[in-house]
Amino acid sequence: MRIGAAAVAACMLVWGGAARAGEDTIFQYSTIDALVAGVYDGEMTFAELARHGDLGLGTFNALDGEMLAFDGVFWRITHDGKVHAVPPEALTPFATVTPFEADTSFALEGDLDMTALAALLDSHLADRNTPVAVRIDGIFTALTIRAPERQQKPYPGLAEALKSQNTWQHDDIEGTMVGFWFPAWMASLDPPVWHLHFLSADQTVGGHVLALEIGAVTVGLDPSPDMALVLPRTQAFADAEISP
Ligand SMILES: [Zn+2]
Repeated sequence: MRIGAAAVAACMLVWGGAARAGEDTIFQYSTIDALVAGVYDGEMTFAELARHGDLGLGTFNALDGEMLAFDGVFWRITHDGKVHAVPPEALTPFATVTPFEADTSFALEGDLDMTALAALLDSHLADRNTPVAVRIDGIFTALTIRAPERQQKPYPGLAEALKSQNTWQHDDIEGTMVGFWFPAWMASLDPPVWHLHFLSADQTVGGHVLALEIGAVTVGLDPSPDMALVLPRTQAFADAEISP
């Protein structure tokens, strides 16, 4: 097992930085409204993205899979449900990362669905105006996750593209969820909800979280008052009809 893990690690993208207290900047490439408008190709490499954080989520050029990162390792879940390591030269059209360091941690147990979890996480927010990174580790008694299909040009909008997404359901699965909550006033940049991506502990299953039931988990929250935004320098972004 250790040899296998080492062999995989050798071709993995691993964040090289170290989170320091007070360094809570969220780094974002492009915007959710650009993604919704069908801007699925970016020029940001994962090598560059990984310089800005060790935890986060996003997608890949041509909308070719769900991305999540934690502990400095970047993962890709493709439409066929397979989990892959992300090569440094891969490109993203939309991603959000941060050097994660939980300011608040607590345990949760019992039958909480997504709505109940969101309400509970909301109650731990210091305020409703500052974005927050979140990490949840543990057992989920039920989970529904998805991954989109790689898109062909001319790209449709996101709602159309997601019609061919694959979804999977799992029971009693252990793993890690990472993501962000953004305030309503930032909704053009990021979804103003608890946006979560999942990877199983055995690294065989993952995706964007559609529904869940909490079994027993630990939660870490990292509010981040600083944010850096980089927009694509592409013609597609320049020409896109982006509306909130
Ligand atoms: Zn997502």
